[in-house]
Amino acid sequence: MSSSPILSTSPLAGQLDRLAGAVRVALREAVSAGEPTQAGQYQLGQAFSALRCAAIALTAGPSEHTLLNAQLALAETAGSLVAGGHLFALEAAGDIAAPEPELIDAVYASEPAIEEAEELAMLREIFARFSREAVAPVAERVHRGNLDVPEEIISGLAEMGAFGLSVPEEYGGSASGSATDLLAMLVATEELSRASLGIGGSLITRPEIIARALLAGGTALQKERWLPLLASGETMGAVAVTEPDFGSDVAEIACSAVKVDGGWRISGTKTWCTFAGRANLLAVLVRTEPDRSLRHRGLSLFLVEKPAFAGHSFAVESNGGAMEGRAIDTLGYRGMHSFEVRFDSWFTPDDSLVGEESGRGRGFYLQMAGFESGRLQTVARANGLMRAAKDAGLAYARDRIVFGKRLSDLPLTRYKLARMQSTVAATRLWAGFSAAEVAGGTGALEASMAKAHACRSAEWVAREAMQIHGGMGYAEEYPISRYFVDARVLSIFEGADETLTLKVIVPGVARLA
Ligand SMILES: Cc1cc2nc3c(=O)[nH]c(=O)nc-3n(C[C@H](O)[C@H](O)[C@H](O)COP(=O)(O)OP(=O)(O)OC[C@H]3O[C@@H](n4cnc5c(N)ncnc54)[C@H](O)[C@@H]3O)c2cc1C
Repeated sequence: MSSSPILSTSPLAGQLDRLAGAVRVALREAVSAGEPTQAGQYQLGQAFSALRCAAIALTAGPSEHTLLNAQLALAETAGSLVAGGHLFALEAAGDIAAPEPELIDAVYASEPAIEEAEELAMLREIFARFSREAVAPVAERVHRGNLDVPEEIISGLAEMGAFGLSVPEEYGGSASGSATDLLAMLVATEELSRASLGIGGSLITRPEIIARALLAGGTALQKERWLPLLASGETMGAVAVTEPDFGSDVAEIACSAVKVDGGWRISGTKTWCTFAGRANLLAVLVRTEPDRSLRHRGLSLFLVEKPAFAGHSFAVESNGGAMEGRAIDTLGYRGMHSFEVRFDSWFTPDDSLVGEESGRGRGFYLQMAGFESGRLQTVARANGLMRAAKDAGLAYARDRIVFGKRLSDLPLTRYKLARMQSTVAATRLWAGFSAAEVAGGTGALEASMAKAHACRSAEWVAREAMQIHGGMGYAEEYPISRYFVDARVLSIFEGADETLTLKVIVPGVARLA
């Protein structure tokens, strides 16, 4: 990734570039000043991501939408930096113009166009139809009743090849090894997430993460065995990394596996393992090397088989060991259920260790290989959810009469909706750009920035769309309340916002030339 990505296509691009450059310099200084500047580092990391999003979007898809987004990003970022004591932003941003009412009107009601190759546009239409016809009609019922993901959705997605989007063709998937693979995954995820985060787009995340880990470090036999099963949906996976005492601090996890004849015995507790009940394969990150000073180098990744269970709890005994799961009640993101899973001397054979003997101590890296594209996929989940929330806000505003006028005829409402439209346009363009970077092997920082920024944006869009609904936004009968609670989780999982910003984005930006 280059440090100065903005082409000088307009004075605004130059302003964004100057402010981003000044943020980078300030960030480098803050990093060398160390932990006392943590709050400042976080703010600078956030600011750089927002400016980067606006700049990429302005360059990749020049339009009224991206122009408005860039204007607002410049003004808001400079404003919040100054409020945070970073006075350099005043000068670096240059003159800031308020958006013209004509620009707001032009953006308010128009769906931002995304140019796509014919093949991707067709794929989008196929997933959009499934999302509308199969996911949307049941999304509210599953959310309010805290029900399981309907099996018809899983089998429908399996038939469409949704679980094989990241699995190479030679293993029964549809990935050809080109950058289009990631774009296809983004398109499918975004469309499914428009209907539901919990029973739509997120179903593709787990096979994506496990397949990437297997491709990065599995033996030939492991790839031959598991990838076709993941691609067909016959095997449904879940990812068990987080523990009650260690979430962001993955390197310290304590759940352990002890070598026994023919395999390993796993003991300890994992938490927040989404889909652990229905899944028949758990990717479990555990400590295999007792020397705790090895930290992340003492971790290994196992693919642990278990029976699939419906509902909110399960318990199973096998080979003298036991596994027990209990779903944690959550605000939103319902359907797959996120479980606390307790392993008590659970036996798993030698060939379940990813990479077998050479995989010992490499689990952390293999897991991270999966998380990089997982983050990109979360950008698509955020984009799908944002589009749904924005559409709901727009539809409600057009219907609702206040003070004798349509809500959508009021300038403040139009401004809010235009901001939402321009935000969605920018984060979608950034997703496509990041996919190309990730495919080229240089996108770790880009995907992390896009994840952090898109997830915060989704939360803001859902909040504003809910606000437009007034009291009805708080009623369960409108889906906007579901979008709002679902959006809240995006900044927590797949790298909590603060951790991602401080541990990945800040050092990454500080290293840029
Ligand atoms: C609905 C849901 C589904 C999930 N699904 C899965 C799953 O399938 N598999 C799985 O393994 N995990 C899953 N998770 C867990 C998720 O990845 C963790 O919640 C996340 O990593 C944060 O860990 P934690 O909850 O332990 O928070 P903590 O690590 O305790 O962090 C608490 C807060 O402190 C902040 N923080 C942490 N470190 C720092 C620092 N150095 N400086 C400043 N602030 C810091 C964090 O950003 C956060 O805001 C899920 C979580 C949820 C809510």
